[in-house]
Amino acid sequence: MKAIVLRMDGEQGFTELVEIDKPQIRFPTDVLIRVLRVGLDGTDREIIQEQYGIPPEGENQLVIGHELLGAVVEAGEQSGYAQGDLVTALVRRPCRHLDCVNCRNGQPDFCVTDEYTERGIKAAHGYLSEYVVVEAAYLVKLPPSCMDYGVLVEPQSIVEKVWHEVLRIQQRMIWQPKTALVIGSGPLGLLAAATCRSLGMETYVWSLNDPGSFSAELVRQCGARYMQAHEDGAERFGVEKGVRLDMVWECSGYTPNAFHAMQALGNNGVLAMLGVTGDNRQQMLPVDRINQELVMKNKCVIGSVNASRVDFETGVYRLQQIEQQYPGLLQSIASDVCTIEQVPFIDFSRLNMKAVVDLVPPDQWESFINPKSHIEYRFTV
Ligand code: BGC
Ligand code: ZN
Repeated sequence: MKAIVLRMDGEQGFTELVEIDKPQIRFPTDVLIRVLRVGLDGTDREIIQEQYGIPPEGENQLVIGHELLGAVVEAGEQSGYAQGDLVTALVRRPCRHLDCVNCRNGQPDFCVTDEYTERGIKAAHGYLSEYVVVEAAYLVKLPPSCMDYGVLVEPQSIVEKVWHEVLRIQQRMIWQPKTALVIGSGPLGLLAAATCRSLGMETYVWSLNDPGSFSAELVRQCGARYMQAHEDGAERFGVEKGVRLDMVWECSGYTPNAFHAMQALGNNGVLAMLGVTGDNRQQMLPVDRINQELVMKNKCVIGSVNASRVDFETGVYRLQQIEQQYPGLLQSIASDVCTIEQVPFIDFSRLNMKAVVDLVPPDQWESFINPKSHIEYRFTV
């Protein structure tokens, strides 16, 4: 079968299309999946452009891809899955340390040893191949009606984890969030903005892109206010005077924004950093001002990576809400559709929004999916 791998030859790495063996079910809890679509994000761009990925131990290549939409073709007898189920999958797998309480408790996204693996990223093969085998414990069932935007459940899980954390932190008082700022208008920024809108918040999105760009259009489509970047201090984010920001989502990965955002944040607000950078920038900072802002106004800054099952499940619910409120928005996010053969040649600087790879043409997806497949969720919204 076809797969996209990052092949490491000494220091040099190449991304290429290869033929590898089709995987097989080995345990009764395994599930064989026909991959329908895989989404690519900033991490994949780094893996492809800067050879950021790590192959499994003892191997010299890594199958990439961690945003999966697939259909079950063969289900192990103890998996709880059935042929025709529409699924996505978690990315991270727990470390082996007995004293890593979070890995042992189903929250490897809070691993304390950093020895977790991540499919398609770190020491475990990913999903960008025609078939994959995933253990049932790491699968998430999707309603067949989510087929068109199901590939966004993984990036949405990143947003849900943050929102879940923020809700817990903000139990420190009565919190009635009304206004949010999202920095960055890439796929993650857009999902964060659409989430804030669906939670009823007035939402600003600040980005370098032109107000006439496709991303600005999508921002406006979900009723958020698009602000183009200005380089000047206080009004940096273009948020009107007198507006108190209850929350800021840093989704640009341009770290100086985070420090400006600490000052723009209102009393008792939370700044969440989701964007990550591979750079090594140095900068002078008004540290005393930042101290005064954080201490005197009870501000909180959190970083957040990866997500747990519950975040995926809430993500499914939220995407359904967003689809209802802003029909078509989610499908527009998957703007640049390509085939597996095209992956090594994608020009990430020219994407409209997000690249997705179709392993099966969408007009054939229904033939892999059982429309009656049954789902039960517990949501924490
Ligand atoms: C993925 C996360 C992962 C992170 C760091 C992101 O692109 O969505 O699941 O934990 O990269 O590797
Ligand atoms: Zn761990």
